[in-house]
Amino acid sequence: MKKIILTGDRPTGCLHVGHYVGSLKRRVELQNSGEYDEIYIMIADAQALTDNMDNPEKIRQNIVEVALDYLACGLDPEKSVLFIQSQIPELCEMSFYYMNLVTVARLKRNPTVKTEIQMRNFEERIPVGFFTYPISQAADITAFQATTVPVGEDQAPMIEQTREIVHRFNHVYGETLVEPNILLPDNQACLRLPGTDGKAKMSKSLGNCIYLSDTEENIKKKVMTMFTDPTHLRVEDPGHVEGNPVFTYLDAFSTAQHFEKYLPEYKNLEELKAHYMRGGLGDVKVKKFLNNVLQDVLRPIRERRKEFEKDIPAVYKILEKGSIVAREKASKTLIQMKQAMKINYFEDKELIENQIKKFNI
Ligand code: ATP
Ligand code: MG
Repeated sequence: MKKIILTGDRPTGCLHVGHYVGSLKRRVELQNSGEYDEIYIMIADAQALTDNMDNPEKIRQNIVEVALDYLACGLDPEKSVLFIQSQIPELCEMSFYYMNLVTVARLKRNPTVKTEIQMRNFEERIPVGFFTYPISQAADITAFQATTVPVGEDQAPMIEQTREIVHRFNHVYGETLVEPNILLPDNQACLRLPGTDGKAKMSKSLGNCIYLSDTEENIKKKVMTMFTDPTHLRVEDPGHVEGNPVFTYLDAFSTAQHFEKYLPEYKNLEELKAHYMRGGLGDVKVKKFLNNVLQDVLRPIRERRKEFEKDIPAVYKILEKGSIVAREKASKTLIQMKQAMKINYFEDKELIENQIKKFNI
């Protein structure tokens, strides 16, 4: 069986360091590993419209921003198909049929959607499109016959829902769809990177992000004003590293080389954490170190982005070409699905012959 990747992002803003460690960095590694037969990276504009229907301009503007972030991180259009969700109408058709395979009760149990509904204060006014987006996400994944979906932890319920739809479809209509597997980051800190405000998730919608395209000064400002341990008031006080995003970011980004370069008095992060917990280590010193680490990680990405920004029409061309390739793939899967569902009336010679016999009798 072919090894195929599908993953993507909502164009609700520029991509941030949560995306980077949660999925983006992994995608680039997988792309360059040469182990995958096909890689599809989707800008999920249709999904973004489910909770931004009154602000299409925001989505439109952010498509190119997300594409630039992709290219800056090393996604290569020669190796990965970069495309825009709304350009693949087959996905809507698939979602329409999948809707018959999922109950309202099941959708209501999705913990990520539950949190997102609360966050957006939808209460009873949830758009149906938003409520059902896990179904459309199942279409996105299965249309490309994806075997592997590299995502952050918040996406686990979506992959579970997709697997259920695949089982149900294959059970009812016969073996057609491919069951995908989630690929989570290995590093615990990267599963769901917290926001700079200490909230559970860095998220474009919460405004608590360090963006991949942030300037050097902006990154520094954000790091130096980051939420930290509120009980750590004086340098000599013992501090907490659990739930302290400064340390979570160090877990996600710092390496032995960073310690050698910027904090040689500590062998590694464990030593730094131990000192912080004992007391006698100030937040400013830790934040300055984190700033150095993040600057090192983000500088090359920002510089590559600047290069791609010089030719915006070329970026659109990449997305246009990618969308054509993606559409071909999705329409092949849709043909197979319709065959399985027996709604391929005009291609089914046997059906027509049987009908002739029926009416001749
Ligand atoms: P929005 O607020 O519009 O939902 P978002 O910041 O949650 O935006 P998405 O486009 O929904 O970003 O997510 C894209 C990918 O990035 C998904 O695979 C998701 O799991 C991953 N991701 C998003 N935020 C984080 C995070 N804070 N930590 C780890 N992975 C993340
Ligand atoms: Mg999200």
